[in-house]
Amino acid sequence: MNPIEQDQIDRLSTSASREPFLLALYATHSANSQGRKHPEPEHAYRSPYQRDRDRIVHSSAFRRLAHKTQVFTGNLGDYHRTRLTHTLEVASIARTMARALRLNEDLVEALALAHDIGHPPFGHAGEQTLHECTLEQGGFNHNRQALRIFEHLETSYPDFPGLNLTNEVLAGQQHRAEGKKSTSGSMPSLEVQVVDASDNIAYNAHDADDALQMGLLQAEELDEVPLWRAVASDVTQRFGTLDEDQFRRAVVRQLINRQATAHFLATKQRIADQQIESLDDVRDAALLVKPEEDAAKKQKELESFLFARVYRHSRVLEQRDIAQNALRSMFQVLCDNPEKLPGKPRELAQHDDLERAVADYLAGMTDRFAWDEHARLIKSS
Ligand code: MG
Repeated sequence: MNPIEQDQIDRLSTSASREPFLLALYATHSANSQGRKHPEPEHAYRSPYQRDRDRIVHSSAFRRLAHKTQVFTGNLGDYHRTRLTHTLEVASIARTMARALRLNEDLVEALALAHDIGHPPFGHAGEQTLHECTLEQGGFNHNRQALRIFEHLETSYPDFPGLNLTNEVLAGQQHRAEGKKSTSGSMPSLEVQVVDASDNIAYNAHDADDALQMGLLQAEELDEVPLWRAVASDVTQRFGTLDEDQFRRAVVRQLINRQATAHFLATKQRIADQQIESLDDVRDAALLVKPEEDAAKKQKELESFLFARVYRHSRVLEQRDIAQNALRSMFQVLCDNPEKLPGKPRELAQHDDLERAVADYLAGMTDRFAWDEHARLIKSS
């Protein structure tokens, strides 16, 4: 290799030196990061967002996603997505879209891997129960809980509480927590918008897949959804007759590809039409990462179908009631008998509301651990 080539490679060995070549002007560049609450020296060659991603992956809250419910809890088999595999699918779709749009993939990956970290056991059923239990203390929301984890509850680092993530990752999560009530008046970065969109694309596709595989739905029922029907007809045209399993998987793959492509193309066009040339332009514009109106309507129809026919399915609701009762009774027993809390949550209860400390403890549990604790706390009492 001649010395000039070697010199060029050396100059591109850090993220900060690569980003100006790789990222669009409207992307979030790590050189412009607003840093961390507790200042730290920069790493020699990892970007601040790579470090955020690694801190998230190495956190205990992230590992626990492996045994937390996405939608299906209880005795419904083990084919379906867990909170962890959902998270990985979101990260995969979001990175693909980010690279195609020349956004900051490291930031997108950190945001995607973090996005569901605040979920309690038993999915949204668990979240609703914890919310009801803590109404007087301000309620419970998985997006706000993620911020508590990032800022207080993880204790792996001796030099600061939480994970000390960059302001950009925290701001993205803050946006999720505020949702439509966002008061900041400006739009989040495109990296945040891409992760939001990828979350919807991922769960539409995989919840249909899981529900079909579990027999909660029949493929013919999904034919009433125009988006599914269009994709299913493409698959049949291309491959002819497939067995049930291959057909379902082929449709689900196409469903992800079609939705992600619709988002990518419409977003790219919008960026060009509106002459978006900086992060400030992104913040001043309306939502940029979304498909054209017709594709958005079709996606919504699939979501509404899944809501009515899967999330409200009697087998899902039955498991949901069992899980909610278990969580509610554990909350009560622990609030009445705080001495039954283990060391760390008991310590937290002395500095915080008892109810909040109990909610933090319960929210941190995996489904499996929650059942073990339920046996210890309820069945033994
Ligand atoms: Mg999600």
